[in-house]
Amino acid sequence: MPYGIIGTWRMAFEGAQIALQMLKSGEWAKFALERAVKEVEDYPYYKSVGYGGLPNENCEVELDAAFMDGDTLSIGAVAGIRDYKNPISIALQLSEKSFNSFLVGVGAEEYAHKEGFERKNMLTERAKKIWEKRISDMKEKNLSPYDGHDTVGIIALDERGSMAVGTSTSGLFMKKKGRVGDSPLSGSGFYVDSQVGGASATGLGEEIMKGCLSYEIVRLMQDDRTPQEACDKALYEFHHKLANKKGKQPGAMSVVALNNKGLWGVASNVEFSFVAGTNKEDLKIYLAYPEGSRKTIIKEANKEWLEAYEARIKKPI
Ligand code: ASP
Repeated sequence: MPYGIIGTWRMAFEGAQIALQMLKSGEWAKFALERAVKEVEDYPYYKSVGYGGLPNENCEVELDAAFMDGDTLSIGAVAGIRDYKNPISIALQLSEKSFNSFLVGVGAEEYAHKEGFERKNMLTERAKKIWEKRISDMKEKNLSPYDGHDTVGIIALDERGSMAVGTSTSGLFMKKKGRVGDSPLSGSGFYVDSQVGGASATGLGEEIMKGCLSYEIVRLMQDDRTPQEACDKALYEFHHKLANKKGKQPGAMSVVALNNKGLWGVASNVEFSFVAGTNKEDLKIYLAYPEGSRKTIIKEANKEWLEAYEARIKKPI
């Protein structure tokens, strides 16, 4: 039976590599996925997820995360949670509840505390420096505060045909306290049904949630579209619809999908890196670009791109 994994952005690579090995050894999709997302949450140089994530306008790191089990359609999510090490694990546990499965802010923190989840100050010195620099750039250069975000969204399929999806993010840099993006919203940031496949989105949450993009992609796959066809159709049609309604180009939106046969697809209206691997193909880092804003061009990331990425994320502030 096929197995596989796909994740948004270059940052998913290390975690997805561990998860793909776990899937190869027969691990359940949901535990492989949790492991993959935790790896991203724990790495301090990924500045849009977990530890090291960029703070809100008050310099507080507020995190959003969600988990969905494709076998049962159970969902768990947290939003605006502060000072917990692995929001994905809290979301996964919440998905097992019939009631109170999506908790926000103080309620999410109290739940995590009672359940013994590990606490951690999620604001790194580096993230604080980036915040301070942005405050002064906003004053001096009249720069938009809202430039900087990314979500790790991972979909996994195991040998039994079980599927799961998870998301985790610090959301929009400099967001208002209490702002929630698409990442913890079912159907927008994620959706999975093991009888079909799963999808996850990243980009400007305020746009993505208008189109319920992840649900739309799963619905299109259910209508016999391949993951690539479903991503192209959902993303570019929605991009054009928004552009027409707004009279200007929409914000960044990128999507990934994996079906229950181990086929994957992606689409994006900006340059977008992602990782994918299955029982047939090694995990690789790819770049996707929109072509004529109807189709997606996909290339493997080359050495120069990877080196520039590494230098960029570790650049002194
Ligand atoms: N979608 C996330 C949010 O709006 C950020 C991102 O994925 O870039 O919070």
